[in-house]
Amino acid sequence: MPIYEYCCPQCGTEFQKLVYGQAAVVCPSCQSPEVRRTLSLFGIRGGSGTVASEGGGGACCSAGGCRCH
Ligand SMILES: [Zn+2]
Repeated sequence: MPIYEYCCPQCGTEFQKLVYGQAAVVCPSCQSPEVRRTLSLFGIRGGSGTVASEGGGGACCSAGGCRCH
C-alpha cells in the first residue's frame, strides 16, 4: 500500500497520505489541489535524475522541514 509524502507550496504543509490509484490529493490545511509529491517510493527509484533534485527547489523547501535535501 503506497504511502506518499506531499507538500503544499501554498502553505508549506507537509503530509503523508495513502493513495489509491489516481485519487486526488488535496492539502489538509488549505485544501489546495496543487500539492507536490516529495519523498516517495517512486521518487527514490534510480534512473535519470531524481524527483528530489529536479523539483525540490520549490516553496516547500524554503518553508523549512523539507527532507529532500
Ligand atoms: Zn496547503
